[in-house]
Amino acid sequence: MTDLMPAIFFGHGNPMNALSKNAYTDGWTSIGKSIPRPKAVLAISAHWYIPACAVTASLFPETIHDFGGFPEALYQVEYPAPGSPELALHVKDLLSPVFVELDESRGLDHGTWAVLRHVFPDADIPIVQLAIDRTQPPLFHYEIGKRLSPLREEGVLVIGSGNLVHNLSAYAWGNPVVAPFDWALRFEKNIRELMLKGDDAQVVAYKGLGPDAMMSVPTPDHYLPLLYVMGLRKKNEEIRFPVQGVDGGSVSMLAVQIG
Ligand code: ZN
Repeated sequence: MTDLMPAIFFGHGNPMNALSKNAYTDGWTSIGKSIPRPKAVLAISAHWYIPACAVTASLFPETIHDFGGFPEALYQVEYPAPGSPELALHVKDLLSPVFVELDESRGLDHGTWAVLRHVFPDADIPIVQLAIDRTQPPLFHYEIGKRLSPLREEGVLVIGSGNLVHNLSAYAWGNPVVAPFDWALRFEKNIRELMLKGDDAQVVAYKGLGPDAMMSVPTPDHYLPLLYVMGLRKKNEEIRFPVQGVDGGSVSMLAVQIG
């Protein structure tokens, strides 16, 4: 029998992390070395946030450089991991009757490759991305995570890539060591404690956590990938935070590992 794969949420932060070597990226590298080698990866990234459910279904997904204003070197990065039409079809089946489009033209966005090039630098593990349907409420995304549970038993690593706190209008570009905002620290701590307690309902209903939530999650895109990972947690299963820190005052780099 295959080992039960962990499920991991990564705080991806600044796209430059793809090229950087820092405490966050070192943490990602360590994660890659500490877990069983997956047969494939299913990634849910904040940067594929569309009004539909879809999966990447090509054999050779391209590396999408979905950002502007960064150094040329970042646009040269390629992450040539293969795709897996087979896994894409399997995900479609698992999520039925939710309709999942098989997208043969979409590649991998930086939420996925900026992290994975540190976790799996050889780019030799097949990757499929699952889009976040932005028309759906938070509970839907948590439930989709639950429906993906069999993948963990099949050697597939499911990752979410976003940021638990992500407020770019408060972000100190170019000053990563600026002191974190109080609301960012409070919200992150609050969600961490809820996760440790197993209070998934409140993690899903984060909007009810008041002004700190409004500042920390001004739009849902970077938070929702966490809910997929939480949906994959078995009752009382171990949860830990292998990467920690707040970048630029307002972007939590917390990684959340289940199992
Ligand atoms: Zn992002």
